[in-house]
Formats: sequence, structure tokens, C-alpha cells
Amino acid sequence: MQLNSVDQKCLDALAAALPEAALRDVAPRYLEEPRGRWHGQAGVLMAPASAREVSQVIQIANTQRVPVIPYSGGTGLVGGQVSPAGPLPILLSLERMTAVRGLYPEENVMVVEAGAILSDVHDAAAAAERLFPLSIASKGSARIGGLLATNAGGVNVLRYGNARDLCLGIEAVLPNGDLWNGLKRLRKDNTGYDLRNLLIGSEGTLGVITAATLTLVPRPASEGTALMVVDSPTAALALLALAKDHVGEGVSAFELIHGQGLAFLSEALPDLRQPFNTQPEWCVLIDLGMARGLDPASALERIFEEASEAGLVSDGVIAQSEGQRQSFWELREQIPEANRRIGSISSHDISVPLGMVPEFIEKAAGVIGALGHFRINCFGHLGDGNLHYNIFPKHGESRADYAHLSDDIKRAVHDLVHEMGGSVSAEHGIGRLKVDDLERYGDPTKLEAMRAIKAALDPAGIMNPGAVLRASV
Ligand SMILES: Cc1cc2nc3c(=O)[nH]c(=O)nc-3n(C[C@H](O)[C@H](O)[C@H](O)COP(=O)(O)OP(=O)(O)OC[C@H]3O[C@@H](n4cnc5c(N)ncnc54)[C@H](O)[C@@H]3O)c2cc1C
Repeated sequence: MQLNSVDQKCLDALAAALPEAALRDVAPRYLEEPRGRWHGQAGVLMAPASAREVSQVIQIANTQRVPVIPYSGGTGLVGGQVSPAGPLPILLSLERMTAVRGLYPEENVMVVEAGAILSDVHDAAAAAERLFPLSIASKGSARIGGLLATNAGGVNVLRYGNARDLCLGIEAVLPNGDLWNGLKRLRKDNTGYDLRNLLIGSEGTLGVITAATLTLVPRPASEGTALMVVDSPTAALALLALAKDHVGEGVSAFELIHGQGLAFLSEALPDLRQPFNTQPEWCVLIDLGMARGLDPASALERIFEEASEAGLVSDGVIAQSEGQRQSFWELREQIPEANRRIGSISSHDISVPLGMVPEFIEKAAGVIGALGHFRINCFGHLGDGNLHYNIFPKHGESRADYAHLSDDIKRAVHDLVHEMGGSVSAEHGIGRLKVDDLERYGDPTKLEAMRAIKAALDPAGIMNPGAVLRASV
């Protein structure tokens, strides 16, 4: 269906229906995205203060057939939050909807508005002696609406699950402007189709999430972190199994880091202190969170000793203070920033079955090697079988020198992932970046069902057109 740009009639309707504070100029930062691939456009920025106001914006957009791009923290890595072409959309920011509507420590539940920033949600949970365990490097900017809309993962999925697993209920405005109140605090609720799960991961294409009921967990009584040098991804997987044998669910995170990532940190962020004198080829960051009476540092020592005897680790350092723990985490969390500064030719957020990770890493090096000489930074959430497999030019060259190869590289990596039964988008979503990939690798029956769902809920196609599914013209 033909969509229209925001025009004076649309602006007048928005101004008549909403308070002045909700209409904003579109500052340039709303049109950028972290990797600088796209530059967005918008006819107006709307920042409603309530779900009712969101509903009014969507009703107007639906009546006037104007596209709407929901916008939370703007940290999405697949371009879902920017609209580079087509009719000028309404950019709908959740930034004024940040309230904690309710906190129920005895139920381990928090009800929060969609614009709440993840680190603020962490702080609110901590103030109630609880933990909201979703943790990603963009936590200072990403907001609950965006995190749910992309079903974000991060470093603690291994133990606590992804955004979907941490959400009991949702309030959302559907594409016709109707407000759905699904903010249940229930762990059991089998009452028909699960709209909550449909909206989670829908990347703004089926409606606007305005609030969510989140699951909290008890805070671990103590936490410990170590960096251990392993000689291969196979050894890293064996170390993960060993760590789980020792402390079971106490393993909160298990991150694989390649020496190339450490080299990039030295190159791009030289002030960051690194714990190893000699750069290892592979190392893992292990994070333990233990219940009262259990000591993570001694557990990490036992794990290291046993792994050492088994020939799995050759060096390691266990954080001796909270400050050192944070500095280990900083190393891991600054890898995306170092990557950004170096400039990748092609980045891939992939997953394969856990046991096939070493085989993938070996085969992928082969297929990339056949295309030329590149630097490969492979790192990520090993415990989830989720790797960030990013390809960079040789030292002294730039990504622009290889722009002509970026599609071939992406295709080679994704073909391999697909052959191995993996996913070409493990945690970042489809956005605008991977629409082609979804069409190429997605199951046709699932794709048809997705198109039917979109057509049923959003027949005019106003919600984030061009994201996830190709926009119909
Ligand atoms: C340094 C860095 C590290 C990162 N690490 C990780 C990581 O470890 N794991 C991971 O999964 N991701 C990671 N990301 C990606 C990103 O942070 C996540 O995708 C995050 O969930 C996006 O949240 P946001 O609030 O910024 O959403 P935005 O970027 O604003 O939006 C993302 C998508 O959600 C839609 N959307 C936004 N708000 C709503 C809403 N209220 N209702 C409906 N749709 C909405 C948008 O239209 C868009 O399609 C990282 C990003 C950066 C920059």
C-alpha cells in the first residue's frame, strides 16, 4: 500500500492531539546508527509521555498512512531504527517514558516503561537487592523497548536467557492504534496465542512496546572473574564443561576472545591495560556468581588447577578485587569499540550448535582465506554458541579498499553458517541489514507465516516498513 511522507496535515493532526512537549525537532543523532552504515531521515520526532499518547500518534499515522519508526536507544546494529529512504516517517522515541511502574521484590518482578535505560533498570533492581540480568555493552544507552524489540542477548544469556526469557508481560500499541495491556505478572498464563512473544523480536514492525513486566533474580552473594588462556576453541569448550561441572549454574558468562581482539585493543585503545605480557591466541573470560557461603575466587582456582592438569589452559589470572574484575570486563566490552575504530569490511553475528563452534571457526578461516588476506576478530558468547565473526583489512589498509569484496565475504560466512544448521542473526536481529539474508536462508513456510502476520496486524504497512520483511510497494 502507498505510504505518505509526514506533511503539514500530519503535523497539524499531531499538534492538535498531543501536548507541545511531544513534538520535537529531529536532532542529527537520531538519524545515525552505531556503525555508520546508514543515514536516516524523518519528518518529525515524536516523544510521547504515555502509552495513551503513543496510541494517538499511531492512530494518526494509520489514518494518514504515514510510516512510523519506533526508536529507543538507537544502539541497534542492524539498522532497524533508521529509515534511509522512502516517505518521510514519524520517528517515535520512547525517551520520555522511563518510569518504574512497580517493583515486587518478593515476586522477583519489575514493571517498567519502554524508555527506561538498561543501566537504570539495573540500578533500580539493585536498590531492591535484586538483579535484572540482561547485560550488554550498550547498557548505558539501550532502552527496554529496543532490547525487547530486538530480543537482545548479551553476556549472561548462558545463565539467565535472553530478553524474551526475562519478560513476563508487555503493554503495546498495535498498528491500528489500539492499546493492548498485557502487563501480567504471571509465570503461567496459557490463554491463547502469545502476543507478547510475537512482539518481542519484531523490531518495531508489529507495534510499539510501551511497557514491560521484567523478571528479576536474586543477586549473587559474590562474584568472581578470571581470564584464562586456552590453546583452541575446542579447549575453551572443554573448559566451559569443566566449569559447569564445578559450579553448575554459577557460570554467569563465558566469553571467547581471540588474540586479534586484544591486538585491536592495543592498536585502537592503547590506554587499556592488558593482563598478559604475551598476547595469547585465544583466551576466555569466565564470570561466576555464587550463592551465599560459596567463594568464586577459590572455585576459579580449582577450575584453573584442574583445567591445567588436563592441558586445557596454559595461563590465567583471577581478579583480586572488584576493580580488577571490572577491568577484565572492560577489556571484553571495549572490543566492539576497538572494532569500530579499526573498521570492519564485514561483521557477522552468528550462532551454530555449541559443539560445532570449533569446526565453524576452522572452516570459516578457510573460506575467508580463499578470498584474500584479512585480519579476523572472532569473539563472543561462546557459552551460547554465538560468535561475532568480523573481518578486517590488513594493517595499513582501509575497509574502503575491500568494499568490493564485502558481499562475497558475508555470503561465504553466512553460507557456511547455514550449512552447519546455524543462524545468520544470533542476537542483533534482522533490521534492514539482513532482509536479504532472511529471504535467502529463512524457512519459506516461516517466511510466509511472518508475512501473513504482518498483513493481519498492519495491513497498511505503517510500522517500520522495510525492516525485517521487504516493504511491499
Ligand atoms: C557497543 C554495543 C554493544 C552491543 N552488544 C550487544 C550484545 O551483546 N547483545 C545484543 O543482543 N545486542 C548488542 N548490541 C545491539 C543493541 O544494543 C541491541 O540491539 C539493543 O537491544 C537495541 O536497543 P535500543 O534501545 O538501542 O534500540 P534501537 O536501536 O532504538 O531500536 C532497535 C530496533 O527496535 C525497534 N524498537 C525500538 N524501540 C521499540 C519499541 N518501544 N517498540 C517496538 N520496537 C522498538 C526499532 O524500530 C529498531 O528496529 C550492541 C550495540 C552496541 C552499540
